[in-house]
Amino acid sequence: MGQNEKIMVTKSFLPPMEQYINKIKTIWENNWLTNNGPLHEEFREKLEDRLGVNNISLFVNGHSALEAALSTIEEGGEVITTPFTFASTTHSIIRNGLVPVFCDINEESYSIDADKIEELITPNTKAIVPVHVYGIPCDVYKIKEIADKYELKVIYDAAHVFGVEIDNKPIASFGDIVMFSLHATKVFHSIEGGILVDNTAKCTSHFNLYKNFGIAGPEEVLQIGCNAKMNEFQAAMGIVNLEYLDKEIIKRKAIVEEYTQGLEGIKGIKLLKYSDNIKYNYSYYPIVVEEEYGMTRDELYNKLAENNVYARKYFYPLVTEYSCYAERYSSKSTPIAKYISDRILTLPIYGDLSLEDVKYIIDIIYKG
Ligand SMILES: *Cc1c(COP(=O)(O)O)cnc(C)c1O
Repeated sequence: MGQNEKIMVTKSFLPPMEQYINKIKTIWENNWLTNNGPLHEEFREKLEDRLGVNNISLFVNGHSALEAALSTIEEGGEVITTPFTFASTTHSIIRNGLVPVFCDINEESYSIDADKIEELITPNTKAIVPVHVYGIPCDVYKIKEIADKYELKVIYDAAHVFGVEIDNKPIASFGDIVMFSLHATKVFHSIEGGILVDNTAKCTSHFNLYKNFGIAGPEEVLQIGCNAKMNEFQAAMGIVNLEYLDKEIIKRKAIVEEYTQGLEGIKGIKLLKYSDNIKYNYSYYPIVVEEEYGMTRDELYNKLAENNVYARKYFYPLVTEYSCYAERYSSKSTPIAKYISDRILTLPIYGDLSLEDVKYIIDIIYKG
């Protein structure tokens, strides 16, 4: 038995080529390629509409956006964050001269454990930087309560949660600053791209300066900045892709339901729990491979690969175990994050993945 074509963990969405070409024709008509062009503006307005918030700034990628967000915090300050994330979160904290303080994660949602934040707060704590891992929201209410009590800023790494809602409220409305990534592998993308939502309404002009070298006018450079602007080709892809997002999410939902139905009885395979008050985007399908399964995560990963299925150990290793950080930090203070990271496997999911392929993957895991 075999699968002739490789099934990868993800496959970037592409709209019909003609539609994209049609959209970028205007770039040749007006010769405006970057620096807040008309497509950039159109995209920004459509995003404010879609995300249900104001004060959006667009960036060339999510990481630059996150660095810009963290540049609003006074250098040297401590930032409470999670080690169970993508490299970008921690790098952006450190590259801004801030000190990450790693909090353990919740064993069900895999996001920062809000009940363990308070004990990490010191007089030098300036912010909390949680990550909505796999599209599953953090405990936003508890995090806000703590932040209000200690006057901390909350900057969400919302790279995985475009389009998610909590209690009918857009996820972009929770937190002081919220970063979405529009990278090609995300549920919704603009090839590369990033969004900052400024719920404080005080940082948008800083972000606009930051991403364009700090240039305020032909003869005025107000602050030290970098170049992180979104260009017109990216904006065009984003505008076109936005039309397909709802359909993409519906297809992913069917895949998640198929996986869940097929995997939920298997001993030692732990699945995500979904709640009724959340509107999900189904961005990832993680499983945790525990002892009762009879095979380790790495053995299952290899077995899937032998059958042409390429899952991903995401997030593994933990940030605190990266070779660039292992000497500075330890995973000992975050045992749940360590446990999950050593057993996590995200299975293939993308709109065009057929339910037959999903059944084929389930079958390999079921047989063990
Ligand atoms: C993708 C991602 C980022 C970075 O976004 P880019 O657009 O790729 O720069 C940051 N954090 C998390 C959790 C991500 O998944």
